[in-house]
Amino acid sequence: MNSRMLNSSTLITELSNSHGNTRDYTEKSLLRHLLFRVFLCASVAKIFVFIRLKQYLKPVGSGTNPLRKPPPLPAHLFIILLLSLAASACSQDHDDAFHDQFFAFGTLIDLTLYGVDPATARQASERIEQDFQDMHNSWHAWQASDLTRINEQLATRKTATADDSILSMIAEADRLSLQSNGLFNPVIGELIALWGFHDNPLPIGTLPDKDTLNRLVAQRPSADDITIEGNRISTRNPAVRYDLGAFAKGYAIDRAVERLRELGIGNAIVNAGGDLRAIGRHGDRPWRIGIRHPRQPGILASVEIEGDTSVFTSGDYERFFEVDGIRYHHIIDPRSGYPADRTASVTVIHGNAATADAAATALFVAGPDEWSSVASRMGIKYVMLIDTDGIIHMNPAMQARIRFEPETNAVIRLSEPLP
Ligand code: AMP
Ligand code: MG
Repeated sequence: MNSRMLNSSTLITELSNSHGNTRDYTEKSLLRHLLFRVFLCASVAKIFVFIRLKQYLKPVGSGTNPLRKPPPLPAHLFIILLLSLAASACSQDHDDAFHDQFFAFGTLIDLTLYGVDPATARQASERIEQDFQDMHNSWHAWQASDLTRINEQLATRKTATADDSILSMIAEADRLSLQSNGLFNPVIGELIALWGFHDNPLPIGTLPDKDTLNRLVAQRPSADDITIEGNRISTRNPAVRYDLGAFAKGYAIDRAVERLRELGIGNAIVNAGGDLRAIGRHGDRPWRIGIRHPRQPGILASVEIEGDTSVFTSGDYERFFEVDGIRYHHIIDPRSGYPADRTASVTVIHGNAATADAAATALFVAGPDEWSSVASRMGIKYVMLIDTDGIIHMNPAMQARIRFEPETNAVIRLSEPLP
């Protein structure tokens, strides 16, 4: 059996988010930035001194009086111009973009805050990082966490208790699952574990046992099987197991944006490995976001966003292994129990991040034939789906706001407008 394990971390590039000319004020770049300023000031000063010397040191007898006043125009104008350039170069404050990065949810979280003083930005960033670590520890699907405890209780006693924060998250996931016709299904944890996508490294050369897979699919665990009363969750389906991997990042980003707003920060991007929510603007221009190409390194397209917008992409390149040349990736069609095999990536633009995250996964499973009906059910207005033949499917509103970089010669299939 010819099998190959691919490490997802090498495949996820930093290209899914481009900050345009956002400046990076981490320590290293601050030093780079200061050196650049010093170099610029020194260069302008050198030109200024050179011009003054040329005026005063002309050789005696060259036909000019060395003691005469320097020529008022145009030399003075030129000097004033240079001086003002030098002044602006030497004193210009940074463009107020603060940039920080840390690891959570197994990915790089990238925070950009705009128009915030450095001390406040640093404090906000530390707070957000702590929030992310707490959420990650509490929601982990297979390391000891509140979620694994709930799963164990559901499996043995069919009833579990949970605190408000995790209950509202679960309730929101269940609601989105029903909207998606169960294509985003947060209770197929058993199936995902069976495929080995919880393992690190991923399984090499082994496919799940067919009988176990078929049994799990036949049990049809669904959000419909869940009842939440007070702080108690119960289910009548023994196959129900929560895995919030398709939605937790989005939900966490929404909590981070709430936290930023509490702290009075209105212009920011919270980016978790390329999936992000932006609020406000980047100074006098919108945020520019790159969308990764599913089959090549680099970006396929970009969109400009402002106000309050999330951009989420689900891709078959993020976590997968190959057996006999066939790619088995981490996005499972709950109807078959196998990876959804007609989609390479789906990008969704939507207001809140939790919905965008759940929808990107659901539309990935829906594939080229069903994505627009599921998008309508979920209230999604902007979708781009790239199928495994490289055909780009979009709704007209998405086409109007996306820019391919460079122009693509791929076949583009437009859907009817989404309602
Ligand atoms: P995403 O990258 O947001 O599409 O999430 C993929 C992750 O969600 C996988 O690694 C699984 O943990 C989980 N998952 C896979 N298939 C589904 C599905 N159909 N519904 C919900 N979660 C899923
Ligand atoms: Mg998702």
